[in-house]
Amino acid sequence: NQQIVLDNRPQGEATTGNFKLVSRDTPPLEDGQVLVRHHYLSLDPYMRGRMNDGKSYAQPQPLGEVMIGGTVGEVVESRSPKYAAGDKVVGMGGWQEYSVVSADQPGALRKVDTTHVPLSHYLGAVGMPGVTAWYGLVKIIEPQAGQTVVVSAATGAVGSAYGALAKARGLRAVGIAGGPDKCKYAVDELGFDACVDYKLHQDAGSLAKALREACPKGIDGYFENVGGMVLDAVLANMNAHGRIAVCGMIAGYDGRPMPLAYPALILVNRLKVQGFIVGEHMEVWPEALKELGTLVATGKLRPRESIAQGIASAPEAFLGLLKGKNFGKQLVKLI
Ligand code: NDP
Repeated sequence: NQQIVLDNRPQGEATTGNFKLVSRDTPPLEDGQVLVRHHYLSLDPYMRGRMNDGKSYAQPQPLGEVMIGGTVGEVVESRSPKYAAGDKVVGMGGWQEYSVVSADQPGALRKVDTTHVPLSHYLGAVGMPGVTAWYGLVKIIEPQAGQTVVVSAATGAVGSAYGALAKARGLRAVGIAGGPDKCKYAVDELGFDACVDYKLHQDAGSLAKALREACPKGIDGYFENVGGMVLDAVLANMNAHGRIAVCGMIAGYDGRPMPLAYPALILVNRLKVQGFIVGEHMEVWPEALKELGTLVATGKLRPRESIAQGIASAPEAFLGLLKGKNFGKQLVKLI
């Protein structure tokens, strides 16, 4: 069983030298356990926070242990009445080829149906990132039909689901993404009404002007994935009583400072700004997953994936995700 462990903590930017590839035997199964062969590993921005020792929204990843992370795969051996060999499952198996899971542990494993939804999408649009988009839009932004909602990192795992959920509610959905290819894809394939390329702008003032053109009636709801200059430009366009769901601030994850230029706009526009962690809201997952599964099964959400091959490619692919090199949900394919 090949595994990637966290070998040492980053000093500043994370590097491939922080990780180590090791090979260990899987322990024999005990009663109630199943052996899962992973088909895909999920790479997610929150993993960067876990590599540090300090306070983050996620617990620090212990050194020398398998990197924690979401996985989808197939049960290959079972000593639990709940699972049989051949079942497709989603779990938190980590950066390794196989995992031994106690089937009775709440939330450890979930059977999934791959008839209409490909297995890998259970790590993206019909998984944790999709539910994240759903929670921010439905529970925090609480939009009314006809309003304008914006999301940054619009073509990513969370952003692409957000676009489809917003369009299903009759909203004007505007994305912010890096580069012409991502922006074209956001409009042509994901159904966003417009997409602004933040890389064309050197400062928040210039980006704010471009956003104003894409959002002529102002912004009622913003789903924050990035922080920094993008947040400043959005703040300059928020309507009175707008809502901001703070989901992530990836621009600062690798240690860069992110000063806010216009914090007074929160007061001036009487905004509601709320951070959230999707794992603290398990009660909405069934409803959210049902809607997301239907959007994917009916072709209304066609999420894109960036797929790295083989366990050894995980560190490099993860570092690429932190630099925006991924185009859609970043995965590692194992078989
Ligand atoms: P994505 O698939 O969107 O990948 C990350 C994207 O961030 C990149 O592709 C890049 O897109 C964009 N980005 C923008 N600015 C930067 C920058 N300065 N440096 C690097 N990348 C940048 O990731 P996810 O959809 O998985 O996650 C999106 C956000 O949601 C993250 O901030 C994540 O931490 C957060 N999150 C929070 C959760 C919660 O419970 N609160 C749960 C899940 C995710 P581009 O090229 O367009 O800039």
